[in-house]
Amino acid sequence: MDTLEAKVVILGSTGVGKTSVAVRYVQNSFSPNGKSTVGASFMTKKLSVNDCSVRLQIWDTAGQERFRAMAPMYYRGASAAILVYDITSEESFTEMISWMEELNKNMTDDLVIHVVGNKIDLEAQRKVSSSKVYDYCDQLVQYVSGVHEVSAKDNIGIEDIFFDITQTLVKKR
Ligand code: GDP
Ligand code: MG
Repeated sequence: MDTLEAKVVILGSTGVGKTSVAVRYVQNSFSPNGKSTVGASFMTKKLSVNDCSVRLQIWDTAGQERFRAMAPMYYRGASAAILVYDITSEESFTEMISWMEELNKNMTDDLVIHVVGNKIDLEAQRKVSSSKVYDYCDQLVQYVSGVHEVSAKDNIGIEDIFFDITQTLVKKR
């Protein structure tokens, strides 16, 4: 069985839960006080899909998302990007759109992009409707391979993001 290596970057505003999504997926844990720190610049996770073994290199920023100029260095060589917003923050959705524009400007068409709305456990405080996100992503079908609403806290939908990305990467290999 051959192994496919893929770099996956997580982008989005500070506080949307990028680190929490990565830590939930790789370590199956959640830290409510926001103290999730990741020592290395990336974490690895192995999985196998359709008889292909895949090693995902999941890159999480250590707050550098504040410095847009850093971004190209960060996402260089990525096979996939996860663009995260927080369903309770309209502003984070707007920021997500600007990350999308940045990627579309700077990356080749074969980057696999998934859009992720996190914190669905906070449904009562929702500010970004699902239909708004689907409408936005519908206009970008040529770029966006997946749209998810998840909760890193309650472990809803997290595995699916990475499984879907891996499946897409294996198919187009
Ligand atoms: P980052 O800055 O994008 O890496 O965000 P963090 O992962 O550090 O999370 C920011 C804050 O949101 C922390 O206090 C987390 O505990 C909290 N958080 C992350 N994911 C969720 C979630 O799914 N639900 C809720 N309620 N809080 C979350
Ligand atoms: Mg973080």
